[in-house]
Amino acid sequence: MVDGLIKQYNKIHYLTYGCKVNQFDTDKIKSIVPNSFEESSDLGKSDICIINTCTVTDATDNQILKDLRKIKKDFPKIKTLVTGCLAQTTPEVLKASSDVDFIVDNANKYLIPKVLNNLEAYENEVVSDIFALDEFDDFDEGIKENRSRAFLKIQDGCNYRCSFCIIPFARGKSRSMNNDSLLDKISYLHDCGFNEVVLTGIHLSSYGLDRNQSLLELLQKIEKYSPIKNIRLSSIDPADTSLEMIDFISQSEKICPSFHISMQSGNNEILREMRRRYKISSFTKLTNYIRDCIPDACIGTDVIVGFPGETEDLFLETYNYIKNSELNYLHVFPYSDRKGTRASLNTDKIDNFDKKLRSKKLRMLADKLKEEFQSKYIGKTLIGIKEKNNKVRTRNYIDVNIADSRIEQGRIVKVKIDEILNKKVLGSIIPQQG
Ligand code: SF4
Repeated sequence: MVDGLIKQYNKIHYLTYGCKVNQFDTDKIKSIVPNSFEESSDLGKSDICIINTCTVTDATDNQILKDLRKIKKDFPKIKTLVTGCLAQTTPEVLKASSDVDFIVDNANKYLIPKVLNNLEAYENEVVSDIFALDEFDDFDEGIKENRSRAFLKIQDGCNYRCSFCIIPFARGKSRSMNNDSLLDKISYLHDCGFNEVVLTGIHLSSYGLDRNQSLLELLQKIEKYSPIKNIRLSSIDPADTSLEMIDFISQSEKICPSFHISMQSGNNEILREMRRRYKISSFTKLTNYIRDCIPDACIGTDVIVGFPGETEDLFLETYNYIKNSELNYLHVFPYSDRKGTRASLNTDKIDNFDKKLRSKKLRMLADKLKEEFQSKYIGKTLIGIKEKNNKVRTRNYIDVNIADSRIEQGRIVKVKIDEILNKKVLGSIIPQQG
């Protein structure tokens, strides 16, 4: 029976929505699916589509449901298996949809190989308690070809409750990979030829809390033992980033001087409504400190625009704050409701038109800040990683376009910044001596 099923459904197409952590989780699923199943890049020629979902806003959920409808309409014979954050938080909606054949919640997603071997017997009834998970799900990732750097998920879950965010209910409490296995993985990635690793997590700053350790202690070990010279942090929380950690990074030869620190708003009233755990003064103290200790650091942030209750004046406060800050780039997100969050119950919603206008204004400011930062390096030489498509990403997060180069992807190179043209940084590789 199982053999028959494997024969019948042996080509799998994978779709991933959302963040880098989800991408990493899909890689894990791929790596544990038995070899009797074959990955197919062509949806139309596949038997099964595994959809690893995100659920960050209602709009994301709707987009996924719309895409599922299209898959079933275009290829009615494909079996759809939905996993990830939407499957964990909103299984009832998926169960009610005729476009969904199988649901595997986030808590059980690494059991997908078993599910695949027993598709006909699989029932969609059980959704487990994600908060019951205590252990970090460790695994040996298959190395992906064609990548300039490796992404290493070292933490999952979040213990906090920002009022706009559903993620803790999709991911559970904070869990971390242990130090030893993490260092082993970095060594393995080095042996595979990677020169840069990005440490990722749902709430990276919580790394180690479940093990009586801290992110700083981990970085100290990495500095000592990692054979890889470029280690990048994905996103960190201002509430949990100590000045001691900045001091350490300022002396480090391995931790890249680029910081993505989620601010979300420049106004204390809104930060309180968001249930963020800091005031804007401490964000300023942190970013100023980074600039003083690490003058070349690139500092970026996320901003939510049009959060319920954000008047035009409050928005302008955020705008002016950013304009005069040490920030070098922004990711701007117009606020979008997610059912089940506290913020979605707030009746003081901002008109979509206003959100669009404010987002546009902030994105223009973001372009300006980025160009100001990049311009400081014209004529200077920086170290970076050669990307595909004739680009180099510097340690301080500048993407430099270079002339056609045969240097292989993923190599460490020196690049001179020549000019900025139409928002593009242009540069040239400095040949290595000897
Ligand atoms: S810190 Fe806040 S925004 Fe980040 S995952 Fe946790 S609850 Fe969500």
